[in-house]
Amino acid sequence: MAATRVLVLNSGSSSLKYQLIDMESGDRLAAGLVERIGEETSRLKHTPLTGGGEARDTEGPIADHSTALKAVAAELSRDGLGLDSPELAAIGHRVVHGGKHFTQPTVIDDAVLKEVERLIPVAPLHNPANLIGIRTATALRPDLPQVAVFDTAFHTTMPESASRYAIDVKTADEHRIRRYGFHGTSHAYVSRRTAELLGKEPEEVNVIVLHLGNGASASAVRGGVCVDTSMGLTPLEGLVMGTRSGDVDPAVIFHLMRVGNMSADEIDVLLNKKSGLVGLCGENDMREIRRRIDEGDEEARLAFDIYVHRLKKYIGAYYAVLGRVDALAFTAGVGENAAPVREAAVAGLEELGLAVDAELNSVRSDEPRIISPEYARVAVAVVPTDEELEIARQTYALVHDSADRND
Ligand code: ADP
Repeated sequence: MAATRVLVLNSGSSSLKYQLIDMESGDRLAAGLVERIGEETSRLKHTPLTGGGEARDTEGPIADHSTALKAVAAELSRDGLGLDSPELAAIGHRVVHGGKHFTQPTVIDDAVLKEVERLIPVAPLHNPANLIGIRTATALRPDLPQVAVFDTAFHTTMPESASRYAIDVKTADEHRIRRYGFHGTSHAYVSRRTAELLGKEPEEVNVIVLHLGNGASASAVRGGVCVDTSMGLTPLEGLVMGTRSGDVDPAVIFHLMRVGNMSADEIDVLLNKKSGLVGLCGENDMREIRRRIDEGDEEARLAFDIYVHRLKKYIGAYYAVLGRVDALAFTAGVGENAAPVREAAVAGLEELGLAVDAELNSVRSDEPRIISPEYARVAVAVVPTDEELEIARQTYALVHDSADRND
């Protein structure tokens, strides 16, 4: 029996998301999520996507990731999709930080695990959780290729002029301080899908991608290659996000330490968890912000305006970085769904060849689509992201190609 399935695991500090995809048929076989791992009220939501089985939602304590993955395996088995199946080709893991080292998806071995561990100081929240996921899955299927797909990999092509901060080189190198960028799997997928939507090869087009989820980042992609992105050493830099400030004058931090008597950890929490849209108006869901604006709420209006102003600055910056732009692509929760954000981000940029058609912009759809009027020089597109599919694709390409070479 041919091994054509890939299990994609995205392991967070207290969650485990998964999808099982058949890479030959393109069918998504099952998907699910374990939440609140380690608490009394853990929850496993499992959805079989073929075979007509019912979605199942189970609550009850799940002590750790190992127990969570075993519970997921049991759910998959109930649908005849068990992890012991010979049809499973590999497990693809999302790994947030791959540093400078990992430019490609990589089959995990001890050396890879060591390097991901070495990067924990620059990704203290994410890499430990990713490592737990990898170790748990390896224990369950030690014979199977486990592949790491890094959020940073797509950005490793950035030139030094974009990836270096203008700080003392010796200090920066000693502490590995540089701009790495994140959401790379999404930027890779969306920039490629945007080229397809235009009927072109990725090499032929320059695209600005705006990944606007709870976390948000922009990237400038020239001919399929990332040349700049808005997140930096960590995901804190760049756009205004759900709870992150994005760009601030670094002196704000010393000011808060000296004058506000705050510790580094307190400022970390402030800028990562209590800022962005939440800090500005107490709310990070764009739907709710729009509802409040419609009711005349000034605080929500200002939060929206600050969010859009920052977006517009990055569109302008990346336009200049690329010189010529063929498409501007919106993706992720806000980018795919919030027509007012798309309209406001592009408003007034007609001189740059950017415009949005009000009617096309208001269409709701899960399909990639163009929302700019025909006369516009730059295509504005909405391209739903699919990080799981991209992880599965990269994982399968790696294990499949190496299997071919061994034949
Ligand atoms: P994550 O970064 O957590 O993966 P998502 O890409 O799922 O985030 O985006 C989540 C955000 O998308 C929500 O916080 C909300 O602001 C926004 N969002 C989701 N659906 C809509 C919608 N219909 N209209 C406006 N915004 C939406």
